[in-house]
Amino acid sequence: MKILVLNSGSSTLKAACYEFGDPPSEDPEAPSWEGKVEFDRERAALRTWSAGRMRLERQINAQSRKPATEELLTDLWSGASPLLRSSSEVGVVGHRIVHGGEFSEPTFVTPSVKDAIRRNYVFAPLHNPAGLEGIEIIEQVLGGVPQVAVFDTAFHRSIPHAAAVYPGPYEWLSRGIRRYGFHGINHEYCSRRAARLLGRELRSLRMVTCHLGNGCSLAAVREGKSADTTMGFTPLEGLMMGTRTGSIDPGVLTFLIRQDHLSADQLDDILNKKSGLAGISGLSNDMREIVSAINGGNPRAKLAFDMFVHRLTSSIAAMTAGLGGIDALVFTAGIGENSVEVRAAACASLEFLGVRLDSSKNAQQACDSDISASNSRVRVLIVRAQEDWAIASACWKLARSRSSQASTVKGV
Ligand code: ADP
Repeated sequence: MKILVLNSGSSTLKAACYEFGDPPSEDPEAPSWEGKVEFDRERAALRTWSAGRMRLERQINAQSRKPATEELLTDLWSGASPLLRSSSEVGVVGHRIVHGGEFSEPTFVTPSVKDAIRRNYVFAPLHNPAGLEGIEIIEQVLGGVPQVAVFDTAFHRSIPHAAAVYPGPYEWLSRGIRRYGFHGINHEYCSRRAARLLGRELRSLRMVTCHLGNGCSLAAVREGKSADTTMGFTPLEGLMMGTRTGSIDPGVLTFLIRQDHLSADQLDDILNKKSGLAGISGLSNDMREIVSAINGGNPRAKLAFDMFVHRLTSSIAAMTAGLGGIDALVFTAGIGENSVEVRAAACASLEFLGVRLDSSKNAQQACDSDISASNSRVRVLIVRAQEDWAIASACWKLARSRSSQASTVKGV
């Protein structure tokens, strides 16, 4: 089955095409084709590649996303070496939708699912409209192909109220002001992948998965379900991030509103874009630049790094307390997969929990590997983020169950 995955962000659209066998591999596979559009005001930069080779690189004038997306996807079934005979070969299209509100699992797109995505615009004003636009473009370009919405919040719907409800007025809950959590597609994937790499039943494991990219969040995973996470109502809560504060005393906000007369938009800009590693170091949001500045003796880079690790380790310990112990600690995403220094510093602070890194395995940082020392009570793993493949897998499962239901009905 050919599965197309679309990840529509506020200024980019990423696409990937997978070919799944029946049954598909349990290990992640590379897409057969990938594409990306970067939208500027009136122009769109298109790139596609396959098996590591560029297929298309073009700029087009585009006032809207539809022509650019259509041109990008057409590369799949046209050109000198088309990958598909025609667009009708696409069996199902999966979309990453950031805010799923009440949805606790992936679902086929219907008019009522589209309405629900629309209702959640208030919670994710940049991302959900882009996701819905992606769905509507596919309706126009590929007609009635089945589409699946895979939500970044869904995995965290299992979080109990004690962890999900904010201790504000009780009425907040009925207004939808509660902790949702994000990065759920990758947290769920990483917890399953870690269990497989360890050769253990997912049900038997208590894990903390650390998604450390530009956005950073933890999930406490018990018996394969999210029991807690660090992001909340928005992706601003929790860990220190590249340009976001993470959690701070809300009193700072009321102070700034009163003293500096800041508007909501100005605060939003500071909290989301001028803070975190970039705000503290004054240099960059990129952990590589922070580490190289520390090596050059830069004290603000050192402070940024130490704060990042301090907040990371205290949150891992808090998640561990909620789980009543920890069997595996998983690092994923840009920093989690690549920063030897962050993993080493975090694990050194967590020795009291029985975490022991094998420093040479940590330095080799092979993806999808166990980097803990043989005497570590807690297994420590690096798992490469594979959100697109996870979305494609969710699509395959839904499409398969629909076709087996249809054949059961036919059989009756
Ligand atoms: P996103 O959250 O946008 O998907 P990524 O998961 O790609 O982001 O992570 C991006 C971040 O990963 C970069 O900002 C950088 O800080 C970090 N990163 C990437 N490569 C390395 C590396 N080799 N060493 C340390 N950090 C890295």
